[in-house]
Amino acid sequence: MPTSNVAAFRPAATNNLDAFWMPFTANRQFKDAPRMLVSARDMHYVAADGRKILDGTAGLWCVNAGHGRPKIVEAVQRQVAELDYAPAFQMGHPKAFEFASRLAALAPAGLDHVFFANSGSEAVDTALKIALAYHRARGEGQRVRLIGRERGYHGVGFGGISVGGMVANRRTFGLGLPGVDHLRHTHDPARNAFTRGLPEHGAELADDLERLVALHGAETIAAVIVEPLAGSTGVLLPPQGYLERLRAICDRHGILLIFDEVITGFGRLGAPFASDRFGVTPDIMTTAKGVTNGVVPMGAVLASEAIYKAFMSGPEHMIELFHGYTYSGHPLACAAGLATLDTYQEEGLLTRAARMEKQLEDAAFALQDLPHVIDIRAIGLVAAIELEPIEGEPSRRAFSAFLKAFEKGLMIRTTGDIIALSPPLIVSEAQIDEMFGTLADVLREIG
Ligand code: PMP
Repeated sequence: MPTSNVAAFRPAATNNLDAFWMPFTANRQFKDAPRMLVSARDMHYVAADGRKILDGTAGLWCVNAGHGRPKIVEAVQRQVAELDYAPAFQMGHPKAFEFASRLAALAPAGLDHVFFANSGSEAVDTALKIALAYHRARGEGQRVRLIGRERGYHGVGFGGISVGGMVANRRTFGLGLPGVDHLRHTHDPARNAFTRGLPEHGAELADDLERLVALHGAETIAAVIVEPLAGSTGVLLPPQGYLERLRAICDRHGILLIFDEVITGFGRLGAPFASDRFGVTPDIMTTAKGVTNGVVPMGAVLASEAIYKAFMSGPEHMIELFHGYTYSGHPLACAAGLATLDTYQEEGLLTRAARMEKQLEDAAFALQDLPHVIDIRAIGLVAAIELEPIEGEPSRRAFSAFLKAFEKGLMIRTTGDIIALSPPLIVSEAQIDEMFGTLADVLREIG
């Protein structure tokens, strides 16, 4: 072997915890007590020290059918042996068309055209670009303004952080996109704390869009993007009537409505999509995560007939969307996605959360009188326990709960001082009890 090649592969330490710069994690803190996961099956991870960890979060809201499902594993194995990669531009492969068609058939009526990306962030940036290009294709190119919402999370692309309302994610990186404005968020514990079901108060907050129309002019606004249920910022349920009101205002002013269903897609709320659960259909929907059960990265944008048509029958220079990724519709992701949809269908998983939600809600509300608990929210197979922050140390209390839960063999997720639980949709009744039992112990033990 030539020595120059050998020199390129210097010996590397296997225990170096600085080479991989971790996302949304301080390596410096992680190194104190690394939480390493080495395998997973169904509802459990196994940590490096051999302990079983109950997955209370479906990974990062993505492993909806549970871990290591043989059908999905085999589909990916077969696919990689048969067609590992195919160029995504000016060429196709059958599984991408098949998977798009299956997704369109599952999605709310009218969302029939699927653009593939590789993550939720890419799906969001794709959706925003499609919205802008759509107006341009119809000769309304002055509609360039994008509206997001405070406490929205739309991934980490420049589009996503601009319309997003997780302030730290944007402020850290300068100004973001110009021409973006935000609706107010709907989190209102003063009026809605400990409400079961959708919050009673807050539908009128949708009228913020009318305020922005008055401020900027509807003719400058391309789209508004919201999560039907804001997941990453603390499981904020839409107030009763809010989404309907937003839909009506968009229709009145020719503004596209984008639902970011990266978390809420694929059964989390007891229906295939939150749009189904809440009975409001957007013009564009983004999704990711559960689309492949988290097994292969993938994001997808579903667009209405009117939007698709604007390109296909629009001006010649716009029939092609000048956008796409090397890995759009990757064969492995499509194979994983097809097997994932089969699994969801065969096991009735996309509606299972509707059958389990009463138990989950009761289990969550049983924590109501524990120390520090200031609000509880639950719907489908997702619940949030909001804790009173320690003065001057926001996030500290919930993060201690996260560490303590992991010690006790339960994976939870925290954002600020909110604990979120979103187990795989295969979770058993006994496992729901176990999750909330462990969490109750945790809350009693943390200061
Ligand atoms: N949108 C929403 C609503 C999300 O919850 C997330 C991820 N939690 C994203 C976008 C970004 O997805 P990804 O991390 O796959 O880029």
